[in-house]
Amino acid sequence: MKAIVVHEFGAPEVMKLEEFPTPKAGPGQAVVRIHAAGVNPFDTYMRAGTYAIKPQLPYVPGGEGAGVVHSVGEGITQFKAGDRVYVGHPVTGTYAEYSLALESQLHRLPERTTFSQGAGIYVACGTAYHALYHHAKARASETLLVHGASGGVGIAAVQIARAMGMTVIGTAGSDKGLELVRREGAQYAFNHNTPGYTDDILNATNGRGVNVILEMLANVNLAADLKLLARYGRAIIIGSRGDISITPRDLMARTASVRGFTLWGITEAEEADVHAGIFAGLENGTIRPVVGKEIPLAEAVRAHKEILEKGAHGKIILIP
Ligand code: NAP
Repeated sequence: MKAIVVHEFGAPEVMKLEEFPTPKAGPGQAVVRIHAAGVNPFDTYMRAGTYAIKPQLPYVPGGEGAGVVHSVGEGITQFKAGDRVYVGHPVTGTYAEYSLALESQLHRLPERTTFSQGAGIYVACGTAYHALYHHAKARASETLLVHGASGGVGIAAVQIARAMGMTVIGTAGSDKGLELVRREGAQYAFNHNTPGYTDDILNATNGRGVNVILEMLANVNLAADLKLLARYGRAIIIGSRGDISITPRDLMARTASVRGFTLWGITEAEEADVHAGIFAGLENGTIRPVVGKEIPLAEAVRAHKEILEKGAHGKIILIP
């Protein structure tokens, strides 16, 4: 099969399109013909060799994708060849024509969801759902700030929170991003590059502050976030690319808390909730994955550069 292969950690250019052995399904495994692969920021950290998870070299990148079950091994009972699926955290990478997955890593893809949309479900929707339901324990009557709402996780969070009944404030760094954030359901959208925008966020809550923050760039925003929280507010760290100092008294004064997580730490029971919720949301149209760009697999290098650029507008997808 054709696959992107990494032989050494480093810059995006270490990714090469090569012929690579097609995986074979062993007991409890399935091979999925990948029609679309999701590109995520952590793919770039992993390729650079700076991520907590360091794969054995050579490896095929890609933690999620969507396609059709090609073959199944012994003991697989829930899926058969021909089923439309999305895969999350599979055994072998999705930047390839085929990916090997355990049965627990396969999830049904509703007919109305395209493969490109499906490739952006696991990480973006999974993280947003897990953050809102399990970590923030968000409630319909609360106000949410999605700090970085124009990207994969942010848009999913806006859609899910609106469907829950929350009041949603989202931020983006471009006019196009702000328009998208409003279109997908945020009642308020502010540009995180405009000086004084945090005052606008507070004003939108009539000075009360927001109950929940989902933070995509904590190393830049966490100190300011703590001043935006309402009493008993919760700041949930989803993304961070460095260090920051905060004023602990901001938390004390509000009886507020900061919590971080990674999707890799999710429990089996939480994962069952997440995928049941996502499937229902996809079917009833409250979750609508937004595909920003479809890029041919051969141009994975470009995809890794663009995912870290400003001006996010939904998910970046690779097409094998
Ligand atoms: P993405 O699609 O690249 O989107 C990045 C988002 O961050 C965009 O909305 C971008 O807005 C926004 N942003 C840029 N500068 C910002 C600033 N100063 N303040 C607030 N937001 C800012 O990435 P993603 O897939 O949504 O992931 C977002 C972050 O979460 C990444 O760091 C990723 O590694 C992390 N993440 C963590 C987990 C986990 O398990 N904890 C799971 C998934 C993702 P503009 O481009 O419009 O400026």
